[in-house]
Amino acid sequence: DTAPLYSPARVRELLAAHGLKPTKSLGQNFLIDGNILRSIAEAGGAAPGENVLEIGPGLGVLTREVASRGARVTALEKDERLRPVLAETLAGLDVNVVWGDALDFDYAALPAGTRVIANLPYYITGLLLTRFMQAPGVVSATVLVQKEVAQRLAAKPGQDNYGFLSAVTSLYGSVKHVRDVPKGAFFPAPDVTSSVVRLDFDRTRAQPDPAFVSFVDNALRYRRKTLRNNLRMMGHGGEAIDAALASLGLRPDVRAEDVPLSGLRAVAVALGVVR
Ligand code: SAM
Repeated sequence: DTAPLYSPARVRELLAAHGLKPTKSLGQNFLIDGNILRSIAEAGGAAPGENVLEIGPGLGVLTREVASRGARVTALEKDERLRPVLAETLAGLDVNVVWGDALDFDYAALPAGTRVIANLPYYITGLLLTRFMQAPGVVSATVLVQKEVAQRLAAKPGQDNYGFLSAVTSLYGSVKHVRDVPKGAFFPAPDVTSSVVRLDFDRTRAQPDPAFVSFVDNALRYRRKTLRNNLRMMGHGGEAIDAALASLGLRPDVRAEDVPLSGLRAVAVALGVVR
């Protein structure tokens, strides 16, 4: 059979040969478009000598594309049913598959210069992106996510989609939109359009204070609530909050998603959360 691994016919054949059906709860939407695979690998910087981390190799199509460009790949996969499939599709390539839940992986131990390249399981996208950002060894993450998430990553304070993910992304680095990906590029087709984005993390400058990251997380947790309300939920006293907001010239009913990070930092300092 000469059809490429990612062709719809081969993907169906592979699944049938191993008696598998894609599992929706694991976010199993497999890529079946060679152009998209190549552009993710390319944008992600897959090249000889690079250490790449992939979450969810699935049938191994993206893994193959990345490894065949000479990168060393570590791939984390939770679905043990895929063992025989990956043994077949990744044979002869420099890939280390780690079986288990990606949420249990120790990202802090990754070597400096690690690049994440992945078609992420959509139900844990936000959690995974936060893990990548907080891992000092990870310098970039080129990921396929729901288009709505891509918009959230790039949103600025005051914009509709602005929230915790937008804020942490700007704290750790920057985001670039690579391309949109239509539903038809996957089997089975998901309900929504997706996008490839590349996040770059600047590890040369001082990294964000974890206490501030968690402050921002809590401040932005409940959208459409006032910042004051969210700070109350964090356990800060009403008088301290009013004094802090007033001293910074912020309205008492300002919403957290309308305050730029510099303003949130000033509030955190005024409340004694960070120095
Ligand atoms: N990379 C493949 C592709 O592009 O065709 C599959 C991508 S699919 C969107 C997501 C993959 O993540 C699936 O293989 C799924 O089994 C795996 N996965 C889901 N939850 C996971 C978890 N908690 N830890 C590790 N892998 C997970």
